[in-house]
Amino acid sequence: MPLYRVKCPSCQTEQDIFRSFETYDDLPECCGERTARVICAPLVHGDIQPYVSMIDGSHINSRSRHREHLKTHGCIEVGNEKVAPPKPIQPPAGLKETLIRNVNAKLR
Ligand SMILES: [Zn+2]
Repeated sequence: MPLYRVKCPSCQTEQDIFRSFETYDDLPECCGERTARVICAPLVHGDIQPYVSMIDGSHINSRSRHREHLKTHGCIEVGNEKVAPPKPIQPPAGLKETLIRNVNAKLR
């Protein structure tokens, strides 16, 4: 969900708000007035901080080198691992019929 900055026209207080595309125009009120959207520069992520690899002691000084290094050594960054979807649970054969028979027997 995108982050937007809004400013109160009365007290000039600025705040950051999250809005989905559907609620884009749903702006909060401050001092009894509707706040106004403030146009901000987009957030740009810089490159990673250089580090020395614990695997081979090489100096990693860019994001592309970091990715290449992980791939070369078969490593996966935490949070980027692929997770297999859970397997559906199959009930033992005949369970449904056994349950129906037992419930019907109790009801008689
Ligand atoms: Zn205000």
